Amino acid sequence: MRQKVIAGNWKMHKTNSEAIRLIQQLRKLLEKTPPRRTRVMVFPPFTALSVVNDALKDSKIILGAQNIFWEDDGAYTGEVSARMVKSAGAKYVIIGHSERRRYFKEDEHTINRKIHRALKHKLKVIHCIGETLEEREQNLTQDIIINQIEWGLKNITPEQMKQIIIAYEPVWAIGTGKTATPEQAQEVHAFIREMVNTIVGGNAGDKVTILYGGSVKPENAAGLLAQPDVDGALVGGACLQASSFFKIIQASENS
Ligand code: PEP
Repeated sequence: MRQKVIAGNWKMHKTNSEAIRLIQQLRKLLEKTPPRRTRVMVFPPFTALSVVNDALKDSKIILGAQNIFWEDDGAYTGEVSARMVKSAGAKYVIIGHSERRRYFKEDEHTINRKIHRALKHKLKVIHCIGETLEEREQNLTQDIIINQIEWGLKNITPEQMKQIIIAYEPVWAIGTGKTATPEQAQEVHAFIREMVNTIVGGNAGDKVTILYGGSVKPENAAGLLAQPDVDGALVGGACLQASSFFKIIQASENS
């Protein structure tokens, strides 16, 4: 059975002291009501990785980074490598987030290089895919998903796919307050599963954890998480407060 995952993408939020406070509040809530079947992950900014790693000592919360560069080291001012985030305690990395695609022009080739580099260093991946509003309105959602799986996951084996989680994040729903309906999310998740089976092979699509992301909140989480192909959520805005992130984890536990 696929495990449930609730992952919090902090984006460019939280200084180190704010980060420690958020982890302390979250730990307090989770220690009182420990999740039985949901893996909880947090993705702070690079600057807070080490302090969050320390604040997570003896906790089951998993630490991840929001990005890496595709080389291990060199003259790449401002970039951070897989080895660096691993040494700061990260076990996962988010790759292909729509904000990276939009503001930093990351394409499928870049994303594919980053995924291979992460896996080489035994860093697990949350691979984000999803269509823009224009693409959805032009009925291109399936074509976009196929392209993102085909090229983003180029040369990924079924064995490597075990180290990858997919996050379906319709770009029109990220940070906009607009959520896909549970039925819209289910339809695309089922399609992603089918395409991973076809493109990666080895029944990898049946096994892969697929998260939904895009304005997930305590009020809409239960409906989305009740869908058979929605295995969890990648949460942005609502993970910045321990109480709302905790309620989404509770929704996962009760789904
Ligand atoms: C995200 O950053 O991945 C995200 C889904 O953000 P939000 O929940 O704020 O839409």
